Amino acid sequence: MTTSAAPSTSKATPKPSPVYAKTELDVWTLMNQVAASVGAVNLGQGYMSFPPKEFIKHAAQEALNENTHNQYAPPRGRPGLLGQLATRFTGRFGRPIDANKEVSVHAGANEALLSVFTAFLEHGKDQEVILMEPAFDQYTPNVIMAGGKPVYVPLRVTSDKDPRENVISSDDWKLDLAEFEAAITEKTRIVVLNTPHNPVGKVFSREELTQIGAIAEKHNLLIVADEVYEHLTYGVEHVSIATLPGMWERTVTVGSAGKLFGVTGWRVGWAVGPEKFISATLSAHTRIVFTSNTPLQEGVASAFRQAPEHDFFEVQRSEYETRRNRLMQVFDDIGLPYVVPNGAYYLLVNAAKLKIPRDFEFPDFIVERGENFKLVYFFIKYFGVSGIPPTEFYSEPHKELANDYVRFAFCKTDEGLEEAAVCLQKIKKYLKETSD
Ligand code: GLN
Repeated sequence: MTTSAAPSTSKATPKPSPVYAKTELDVWTLMNQVAASVGAVNLGQGYMSFPPKEFIKHAAQEALNENTHNQYAPPRGRPGLLGQLATRFTGRFGRPIDANKEVSVHAGANEALLSVFTAFLEHGKDQEVILMEPAFDQYTPNVIMAGGKPVYVPLRVTSDKDPRENVISSDDWKLDLAEFEAAITEKTRIVVLNTPHNPVGKVFSREELTQIGAIAEKHNLLIVADEVYEHLTYGVEHVSIATLPGMWERTVTVGSAGKLFGVTGWRVGWAVGPEKFISATLSAHTRIVFTSNTPLQEGVASAFRQAPEHDFFEVQRSEYETRRNRLMQVFDDIGLPYVVPNGAYYLLVNAAKLKIPRDFEFPDFIVERGENFKLVYFFIKYFGVSGIPPTEFYSEPHKELANDYVRFAFCKTDEGLEEAAVCLQKIKKYLKETSD
């Protein structure tokens, strides 16, 4: 009889959890790899292909030169950044925001969301979180990690025009309130609301938010408002649900310096809400990452301080609007319809009219991810322009709602968009009628 401390003679080795042992790549890595393999113009992942403004880069460089900015930040965040965020949200929310109670800084908005889910969900109780589809691909795994169960309610296209033939508005994508309410059970704890919306570009109206808020109130749900694109709307007003009557008390709003200042690699985000929500979120954050990086928090604080003298947010918004209009014009010219985004930096193009040549071959790693991945793969390999398959933002039963669409990001250089325009001209030869 050997003791338990003796080395095992069996060949067994430790096994990771089946959830993470899967070798299936996330959509971003996969599509970046396919795009790189053919040198495609990358309109896939939503990162900026243009550099940050000089004052923003300098803000980070200067932060690193300050010795104390190279050590741990307090878990809640650096006081300078908390102060800037409190000022910003005091203005945006029309109520005084306490920097030391109602704000927390996170390692990107993703980690802010994970911290909120962790703070509000209990393991082993099957507590449910309503996600509106298309839902950013990180929500589902983050809800599950926090012990919750995602429940999906798809946005429905309400236009009487056929989106395979006609340009429609992101406003035409609506949450069916009856469907939303029917999905709520006694186990529902949270509804996630993303406005401006990735990938649809929908900016929820005040009226829609009021209706969603009323249902959340009736069922005592926490609203997690993912507003990382709050600064990018085109001709419509961004309304934070936290500003509607009675909603501050049930909302945590999440934001992102990566999106706001065009520095997605900095991984600085935040959460804003009532003290008791943020203190629980902060407790979770402290045990997930303890604290987020100090120098770039200081860089963001400094960028906030300098933004007004550069008219930064106004200039940035109009630059994005120009990029959006250019990409829409490219598809107008080709003859493929799309969903006009009222916010964010994505264009959903409906490619139902595209006829893929019969002899075109797809590798197994694409075929196994479904029809929509094949469509996007074809765009990359044949036209040299990459996008993202939006079925990745849907649960299995609803994936077919997105099969015809490709998401293109327009947070890209003018040169990149022009290069894409040239490559995409080839599409014209592959268009067919879409009679059913
Ligand atoms: N939010 C960005 C997008 O949707 C990047 C997402 C990511 O890389 N995880 O493209």
